[in-house]
Amino acid sequence: MERRQRRCQTLRQNKIMIKRRKTRTVLIGNVRIGAGHPVAIQSMTNTDTRDVKATVAQIKKLEKAGCDIVRVAVRDMGSALAIKKIKERIRIPLVADIHFSPSLALAAIENRADKIRINPGNIQDKARLAEVIARAKTRGTPIRIGINSGSLPKEVTSHKKAAGGMCRAALKYIDFFEKCKFSNIVVSLKSSDVPSMIAAYRELSTKTDVPLHLGVTSAGLPMDGIVKSSVGIGSLLCDGIGDTVRVSITGDPLIEIDAAKRILLASGRRSFGPELIACPSCGRCQVDIVRITEEVDRELQKFVNRHPKLKEKHQIIAVMGCEVNGPGEAKQADIGIAFGKNRGAIFEGGKIVKVVEVKNAVKELLSRIMKGVHE
Ligand code: SF4
Repeated sequence: MERRQRRCQTLRQNKIMIKRRKTRTVLIGNVRIGAGHPVAIQSMTNTDTRDVKATVAQIKKLEKAGCDIVRVAVRDMGSALAIKKIKERIRIPLVADIHFSPSLALAAIENRADKIRINPGNIQDKARLAEVIARAKTRGTPIRIGINSGSLPKEVTSHKKAAGGMCRAALKYIDFFEKCKFSNIVVSLKSSDVPSMIAAYRELSTKTDVPLHLGVTSAGLPMDGIVKSSVGIGSLLCDGIGDTVRVSITGDPLIEIDAAKRILLASGRRSFGPELIACPSCGRCQVDIVRITEEVDRELQKFVNRHPKLKEKHQIIAVMGCEVNGPGEAKQADIGIAFGKNRGAIFEGGKIVKVVEVKNAVKELLSRIMKGVHE
Protein backbone atom coordinates (compact mmCIF):
# COMPACT_ATOMS: atom_id res chain seq x y z
CA MET A 1 0.00 0.00 0.00
CA GLU A 2 2.82 2.35 0.96
CA ARG A 3 4.58 1.55 -2.30
CA ARG A 4 1.36 2.18 -4.22
CA GLN A 5 0.89 5.62 -2.65
CA ARG A 6 4.49 6.57 -3.40
CA ARG A 7 4.09 5.75 -7.07
CA CYS A 8 0.57 7.24 -7.25
CA GLN A 9 1.82 10.71 -6.47
CA THR A 10 4.37 10.94 -9.27
CA LEU A 11 2.51 13.42 -11.49
CA ARG A 12 1.43 15.57 -8.60
CA GLN A 13 4.90 15.51 -7.08
CA ASN A 14 6.34 16.62 -10.39
CA LYS A 15 4.16 19.73 -10.43
CA ILE A 16 5.99 22.96 -9.69
CA MET A 17 4.57 24.77 -6.68
CA ILE A 18 4.24 28.46 -7.53
CA LYS A 19 4.60 30.79 -4.59
CA ARG A 20 1.69 33.23 -4.23
CA ARG A 21 2.51 36.90 -3.93
CA LYS A 22 1.73 38.15 -0.42
CA THR A 23 -1.29 40.43 -0.22
CA ARG A 24 -3.46 41.78 2.54
CA THR A 25 -6.71 39.97 3.35
CA VAL A 26 -10.02 41.51 2.32
CA LEU A 27 -13.32 40.06 3.55
CA ILE A 28 -16.11 40.14 0.98
CA GLY A 29 -19.29 38.91 2.66
CA ASN A 30 -18.27 35.47 3.91
CA VAL A 31 -15.36 35.03 1.46
CA ARG A 32 -11.82 36.00 2.39
CA ILE A 33 -9.53 36.91 -0.48
CA GLY A 34 -5.83 37.73 -0.64
CA ALA A 35 -3.00 36.38 1.52
CA GLY A 36 -3.12 32.56 1.31
CA HIS A 37 -6.86 32.27 0.69
CA PRO A 38 -7.99 30.35 -2.41
CA VAL A 39 -8.19 32.42 -5.59
CA ALA A 40 -11.90 33.23 -5.81
CA ILE A 41 -13.98 32.87 -8.98
CA GLN A 42 -16.19 35.80 -9.90
CA SER A 43 -18.81 36.36 -12.53
CA MET A 44 -21.36 39.01 -13.40
CA THR A 45 -25.07 38.66 -14.04
CA ASN A 46 -26.49 39.88 -17.35
CA THR A 47 -30.05 40.28 -16.08
CA ASP A 48 -31.74 43.59 -15.27
CA THR A 49 -30.80 43.89 -11.59
CA ARG A 50 -34.23 45.39 -10.83
CA ASP A 51 -35.71 42.05 -11.88
CA VAL A 52 -34.99 40.36 -8.57
CA LYS A 53 -36.48 36.99 -9.55
CA ALA A 54 -34.43 36.64 -12.77
CA THR A 55 -31.24 37.92 -11.12
CA VAL A 56 -31.56 35.54 -8.15
CA ALA A 57 -32.25 32.62 -10.52
CA GLN A 58 -29.08 33.38 -12.50
CA ILE A 59 -26.97 33.84 -9.37
CA LYS A 60 -28.14 30.48 -8.02
CA LYS A 61 -27.08 28.77 -11.26
CA LEU A 62 -23.69 30.49 -11.09
CA GLU A 63 -23.26 29.51 -7.45
CA LYS A 64 -24.09 25.88 -8.23
CA ALA A 65 -21.48 25.92 -11.01
CA GLY A 66 -18.77 27.15 -8.62
CA CYS A 67 -18.98 30.95 -8.60
CA ASP A 68 -17.63 32.35 -5.31
CA ILE A 69 -18.53 36.03 -5.70
CA VAL A 70 -21.09 37.61 -8.04
CA ARG A 71 -21.35 41.15 -9.40
CA VAL A 72 -24.48 42.95 -10.54
CA ALA A 73 -24.80 46.15 -12.57
CA VAL A 74 -26.27 49.09 -10.64
CA ARG A 75 -27.34 51.55 -13.27
CA ASP A 76 -30.17 53.30 -11.39
CA MET A 77 -31.75 53.64 -7.95
CA GLY A 78 -34.11 50.71 -8.64
CA SER A 79 -31.09 48.43 -9.08
CA ALA A 80 -29.45 49.76 -5.90
CA LEU A 81 -32.64 49.11 -3.92
CA ALA A 82 -32.94 45.59 -5.39
CA ILE A 83 -29.59 44.59 -3.81
CA LYS A 84 -31.15 44.06 -0.39
CA LYS A 85 -33.89 41.79 -1.76
CA ILE A 86 -31.43 39.80 -3.89
CA LYS A 87 -29.09 39.31 -0.95
CA GLU A 88 -31.90 37.86 1.17
CA ARG A 89 -32.25 35.02 -1.36
CA ILE A 90 -28.62 34.11 -2.20
CA ARG A 91 -25.66 32.76 -0.27
CA ILE A 92 -22.60 34.05 -2.14
CA PRO A 93 -21.30 37.63 -1.69
CA LEU A 94 -22.78 40.25 -3.96
CA VAL A 95 -20.77 43.10 -5.50
CA ALA A 96 -22.46 46.25 -6.80
CA ASP A 97 -20.93 47.62 -10.01
CA ILE A 98 -21.32 51.39 -10.24
CA HIS A 99 -20.18 53.94 -12.78
CA PHE A 100 -20.29 57.74 -12.56
CA SER A 101 -22.76 58.11 -9.68
CA PRO A 102 -21.66 58.55 -6.03
CA SER A 103 -25.36 58.51 -5.05
CA LEU A 104 -25.76 54.98 -6.43
CA ALA A 105 -22.57 53.89 -4.65
CA LEU A 106 -23.94 55.24 -1.36
CA ALA A 107 -27.30 53.53 -1.97
CA ALA A 108 -25.59 50.20 -2.77
CA ILE A 109 -23.60 50.41 0.48
CA GLU A 110 -26.79 51.22 2.44
CA ASN A 111 -28.50 48.23 0.83
CA ARG A 112 -25.74 45.99 2.12
CA ALA A 113 -23.73 45.18 -0.98
CA ASP A 114 -20.80 43.02 0.17
CA LYS A 115 -18.41 45.09 -1.96
CA ILE A 116 -18.76 47.91 -4.44
CA ARG A 117 -16.81 48.27 -7.65
CA ILE A 118 -16.15 51.78 -8.90
CA ASN A 119 -13.81 53.39 -11.39
CA PRO A 120 -12.64 56.53 -9.57
CA GLY A 121 -11.65 57.91 -12.97
CA ASN A 122 -15.28 58.43 -13.90
CA ILE A 123 -16.30 60.10 -10.63
CA GLN A 124 -15.33 63.72 -11.22
CA ASP A 125 -16.25 65.15 -7.83
CA LYS A 126 -13.50 63.92 -5.48
CA ALA A 127 -15.33 65.25 -2.39
CA ARG A 128 -18.23 62.95 -3.29
CA LEU A 129 -15.78 60.09 -3.85
CA ALA A 130 -14.39 60.74 -0.35
CA GLU A 131 -17.98 60.61 0.95
CA VAL A 132 -18.44 57.15 -0.62
CA ILE A 133 -15.16 55.98 0.90
CA ALA A 134 -16.17 57.30 4.34
CA ARG A 135 -19.54 55.50 4.16
CA ALA A 136 -17.88 52.26 3.05
CA LYS A 137 -15.51 52.55 5.99
CA THR A 138 -18.36 53.00 8.47
CA ARG A 139 -20.21 50.01 7.00
CA GLY A 140 -17.10 47.81 6.56
CA THR A 141 -17.76 47.53 2.83
CA PRO A 142 -14.69 46.82 0.68
CA ILE A 143 -14.22 48.74 -2.56
CA ARG A 144 -12.72 47.48 -5.79
CA ILE A 145 -10.89 50.17 -7.71
CA GLY A 146 -11.63 49.05 -11.26
CA ILE A 147 -9.15 50.63 -13.66
CA ASN A 148 -9.93 50.26 -17.33
CA SER A 149 -7.45 51.11 -20.09
CA GLY A 150 -10.25 52.95 -21.90
CA SER A 151 -10.94 55.46 -19.11
CA LEU A 152 -7.65 56.52 -17.63
CA PRO A 153 -7.30 59.92 -15.91
CA LYS A 154 -5.74 62.70 -18.06
CA GLU A 155 -2.58 62.88 -15.95
CA VAL A 156 -1.55 59.37 -16.96
CA THR A 157 -2.81 59.12 -20.54
CA SER A 158 0.39 60.82 -21.70
CA HIS A 159 2.26 57.74 -20.51
CA LYS A 160 3.69 55.98 -23.55
CA LYS A 161 2.43 52.53 -22.72
CA ALA A 162 -1.10 51.62 -21.61
CA ALA A 163 0.30 49.25 -18.98
CA GLY A 164 2.34 52.01 -17.32
CA GLY A 165 -0.69 54.34 -17.45
CA MET A 166 -2.97 51.79 -15.79
CA CYS A 167 -0.42 51.07 -13.08
CA ARG A 168 0.10 54.76 -12.34
CA ALA A 169 -3.65 55.38 -12.22
CA ALA A 170 -4.02 52.51 -9.73
CA LEU A 171 -1.23 53.85 -7.51
CA LYS A 172 -2.75 57.34 -7.62
CA TYR A 173 -6.16 56.03 -6.50
CA ILE A 174 -4.70 53.71 -3.86
CA ASP A 175 -2.91 56.78 -2.47
CA PHE A 176 -6.18 58.77 -2.49
CA PHE A 177 -8.02 55.96 -0.66
CA GLU A 178 -5.24 55.56 1.88
CA LYS A 179 -5.20 59.31 2.54
CA CYS A 180 -8.89 58.83 3.37
CA LYS A 181 -7.65 56.17 5.84
CA PHE A 182 -9.29 53.37 3.88
CA SER A 183 -7.32 50.21 3.12
CA ASN A 184 -10.14 47.72 2.50
CA ILE A 185 -9.48 47.72 -1.23
CA VAL A 186 -9.03 45.42 -4.20
CA VAL A 187 -7.69 46.61 -7.58
CA SER A 188 -8.24 45.47 -11.14
CA LEU A 189 -6.41 46.72 -14.24
CA LYS A 190 -8.43 45.60 -17.21
CA SER A 191 -7.59 45.92 -20.85
CA SER A 192 -8.69 44.05 -23.95
CA ASP A 193 -5.02 43.93 -24.95
CA VAL A 194 -3.62 40.87 -23.19
CA PRO A 195 0.11 41.82 -23.12
CA SER A 196 -0.78 45.29 -21.72
CA MET A 197 -2.96 43.76 -19.05
CA ILE A 198 -0.23 41.29 -18.04
CA ALA A 199 2.44 44.01 -17.92
CA ALA A 200 0.22 46.33 -15.85
CA TYR A 201 -0.56 43.71 -13.21
CA ARG A 202 3.08 42.60 -13.05
CA GLU A 203 4.23 46.18 -12.48
CA LEU A 204 1.57 46.94 -9.89
CA SER A 205 2.18 43.70 -7.99
CA THR A 206 5.69 44.89 -7.13
CA LYS A 207 4.39 48.17 -5.69
CA THR A 208 1.48 47.29 -3.42
CA ASP A 209 0.10 44.46 -1.29
CA VAL A 210 -3.49 45.23 -2.31
CA PRO A 211 -5.30 42.06 -3.51
CA LEU A 212 -5.67 41.97 -7.28
CA HIS A 213 -8.75 40.94 -9.24
CA LEU A 214 -7.65 39.59 -12.64
CA GLY A 215 -9.48 39.79 -15.93
CA VAL A 216 -9.21 40.61 -19.62
CA THR A 217 -11.99 42.99 -20.56
CA SER A 218 -14.08 42.81 -23.75
CA ALA A 219 -12.48 39.44 -24.47
CA GLY A 220 -15.17 38.44 -26.93
CA LEU A 221 -17.23 35.40 -27.85
CA PRO A 222 -16.53 32.15 -25.91
CA MET A 223 -13.55 30.85 -27.91
CA ASP A 224 -11.77 34.24 -28.02
CA GLY A 225 -12.75 35.04 -24.46
CA ILE A 226 -11.45 31.76 -23.09
CA VAL A 227 -8.17 31.91 -25.03
CA LYS A 228 -7.45 35.55 -24.12
CA SER A 229 -8.35 34.95 -20.47
CA SER A 230 -6.28 31.78 -20.33
CA VAL A 231 -3.24 33.66 -21.63
CA GLY A 232 -3.80 36.79 -19.53
CA ILE A 233 -5.11 35.39 -16.27
CA GLY A 234 -3.11 32.15 -16.60
CA SER A 235 0.22 33.95 -17.11
CA LEU A 236 -0.33 36.04 -13.99
CA LEU A 237 -1.49 33.09 -11.88
CA CYS A 238 1.70 31.28 -12.92
CA ASP A 239 3.63 34.31 -11.65
CA GLY A 240 1.87 33.92 -8.29
CA ILE A 241 -0.21 37.06 -8.96
CA GLY A 242 -3.97 37.26 -8.52
CA ASP A 243 -6.49 36.84 -5.73
CA THR A 244 -9.78 36.74 -7.64
CA VAL A 245 -10.50 36.09 -11.33
CA ARG A 246 -13.21 36.74 -13.85
CA VAL A 247 -13.24 35.25 -17.33
CA SER A 248 -15.26 37.77 -19.38
CA ILE A 249 -17.30 36.13 -22.10
CA THR A 250 -19.81 37.57 -24.55
CA GLY A 251 -22.37 34.86 -23.81
CA ASP A 252 -23.75 32.78 -20.98
CA PRO A 253 -21.93 33.65 -17.72
CA LEU A 254 -22.02 29.95 -16.79
CA ILE A 255 -19.27 29.44 -19.40
CA GLU A 256 -17.16 31.92 -17.42
CA ILE A 257 -17.25 29.72 -14.32
CA ASP A 258 -16.31 26.56 -16.19
CA ALA A 259 -13.42 28.37 -17.93
CA ALA A 260 -12.22 29.99 -14.69
CA LYS A 261 -12.14 26.62 -12.93
CA ARG A 262 -10.11 25.10 -15.74
CA ILE A 263 -7.65 28.04 -15.75
CA LEU A 264 -7.19 27.77 -11.99
CA LEU A 265 -6.67 24.02 -12.26
CA ALA A 266 -4.23 24.33 -15.18
CA SER A 267 -2.18 26.95 -13.34
CA GLY A 268 -2.09 24.83 -10.21
CA ARG A 269 -3.96 27.36 -8.10
CA ARG A 270 -7.00 25.29 -7.18
CA SER A 271 -8.31 21.79 -7.53
CA PHE A 272 -11.94 20.86 -8.03
CA GLY A 273 -11.65 17.08 -7.75
CA PRO A 274 -10.40 14.68 -10.42
CA GLU A 275 -8.19 16.14 -13.16
CA LEU A 276 -8.54 14.47 -16.54
CA ILE A 277 -5.59 14.20 -18.89
CA ALA A 278 -6.09 12.61 -22.30
CA CYS A 279 -4.01 11.95 -25.39
CA PRO A 280 -4.84 14.07 -28.45
CA SER A 281 -5.09 10.81 -30.49
CA CYS A 282 -3.32 10.04 -33.73
CA GLY A 283 -3.18 7.37 -36.41
CA ARG A 284 -1.99 4.79 -33.88
CA CYS A 285 -5.22 4.92 -31.90
CA GLN A 286 -7.61 2.04 -32.55
CA VAL A 287 -10.53 3.10 -30.35
CA ASP A 288 -12.86 6.15 -30.41
CA ILE A 289 -10.74 8.02 -27.88
CA VAL A 290 -12.64 11.32 -28.31
CA ARG A 291 -15.99 9.71 -27.47
CA ILE A 292 -14.50 7.77 -24.56
CA THR A 293 -12.76 10.84 -23.10
CA GLU A 294 -15.92 12.93 -23.46
CA GLU A 295 -17.90 10.24 -21.69
CA VAL A 296 -15.37 10.05 -18.82
CA ASP A 297 -15.40 13.86 -18.53
CA ARG A 298 -19.22 14.01 -18.51
CA GLU A 299 -19.57 11.22 -15.97
CA LEU A 300 -16.88 12.72 -13.74
CA GLN A 301 -18.77 16.04 -13.66
CA LYS A 302 -21.93 14.19 -12.63
CA PHE A 303 -20.02 12.25 -9.97
CA VAL A 304 -18.51 15.43 -8.56
CA ASN A 305 -21.96 17.02 -8.33
CA ARG A 306 -23.43 13.95 -6.66
CA HIS A 307 -20.49 13.25 -4.33
CA PRO A 308 -18.96 16.51 -3.04
CA LYS A 309 -16.27 14.38 -1.31
CA LEU A 310 -14.72 13.88 -4.75
CA LYS A 311 -13.84 17.60 -4.81
CA GLU A 312 -11.62 17.16 -1.79
CA LYS A 313 -9.31 14.68 -3.50
CA HIS A 314 -7.14 15.71 -6.42
CA GLN A 315 -6.82 12.52 -8.46
CA ILE A 316 -5.14 12.59 -11.85
CA ILE A 317 -7.00 10.41 -14.34
CA ALA A 318 -5.35 9.55 -17.67
CA VAL A 319 -7.15 8.32 -20.79
CA MET A 320 -4.61 7.27 -23.43
CA GLY A 321 -5.11 5.94 -26.92
CA CYS A 322 -2.40 3.36 -27.58
CA GLU A 323 0.33 1.14 -26.25
CA VAL A 324 3.15 3.41 -27.49
CA ASN A 325 2.87 6.47 -25.25
CA GLY A 326 -0.22 5.42 -23.32
CA PRO A 327 1.30 3.22 -20.60
CA GLY A 328 3.89 5.84 -19.62
CA GLU A 329 1.25 8.53 -18.95
CA ALA A 330 -1.26 6.10 -17.44
CA LYS A 331 1.43 4.82 -15.06
CA GLN A 332 2.15 8.27 -13.72
CA ALA A 333 -1.49 9.13 -13.11
CA ASP A 334 -3.40 8.03 -10.03
CA ILE A 335 -5.69 5.98 -12.24
CA GLY A 336 -5.24 5.58 -15.98
CA ILE A 337 -6.17 3.54 -18.96
CA ALA A 338 -4.08 2.81 -22.06
CA PHE A 339 -5.99 1.32 -24.95
CA GLY A 340 -4.76 -1.19 -27.50
CA LYS A 341 -6.87 -3.02 -30.04
CA ASN A 342 -10.31 -3.76 -28.55
CA ARG A 343 -8.96 -3.66 -25.00
CA GLY A 344 -7.65 -1.27 -22.39
CA ALA A 345 -5.14 -1.80 -19.59
CA ILE A 346 -6.15 -0.06 -16.37
CA PHE A 347 -3.29 1.28 -14.27
CA GLU A 348 -3.43 2.13 -10.60
CA GLY A 349 -0.42 3.27 -8.67
CA GLY A 350 1.85 2.67 -11.61
CA LYS A 351 0.93 -0.90 -12.43
CA ILE A 352 -1.67 -2.73 -14.47
CA VAL A 353 -4.54 -3.87 -12.27
CA LYS A 354 -6.97 -5.07 -14.92
CA VAL A 355 -7.43 -5.46 -18.67
CA VAL A 356 -10.96 -4.67 -19.86
CA GLU A 357 -12.92 -4.70 -23.08
CA VAL A 358 -13.47 -1.27 -24.60
CA LYS A 359 -17.22 -1.36 -23.90
CA ASN A 360 -16.57 -1.80 -20.14
CA ALA A 361 -13.67 0.65 -19.88
CA VAL A 362 -15.49 3.79 -18.74
CA LYS A 363 -17.56 1.95 -16.13
CA GLU A 364 -14.48 0.24 -14.69
CA LEU A 365 -12.47 3.46 -14.62
CA LEU A 366 -15.23 5.34 -12.82
CA SER A 367 -15.81 2.64 -10.23
CA ARG A 368 -12.09 2.72 -9.38
CA ILE A 369 -12.13 6.51 -9.07
CA MET A 370 -15.07 6.30 -6.65
CA LYS A 371 -13.42 3.50 -4.70
CA GLY A 372 -10.40 5.76 -4.18
CA VAL A 373 -12.64 8.39 -2.60
CA HIS A 374 -14.40 6.00 -0.23
CA GLU A 375 -11.14 4.41 0.99
S1 SF4 B 1 -0.99 8.05 -26.82
FE1 SF4 B 1 -0.81 6.87 -28.68
S2 SF4 B 1 -2.72 7.33 -29.77
FE2 SF4 B 1 -2.49 8.91 -28.24
S3 SF4 B 1 -1.43 10.55 -29.34
FE3 SF4 B 1 0.12 9.35 -28.27
S4 SF4 B 1 0.85 7.90 -29.80
FE4 SF4 B 1 -1.12 8.71 -30.57
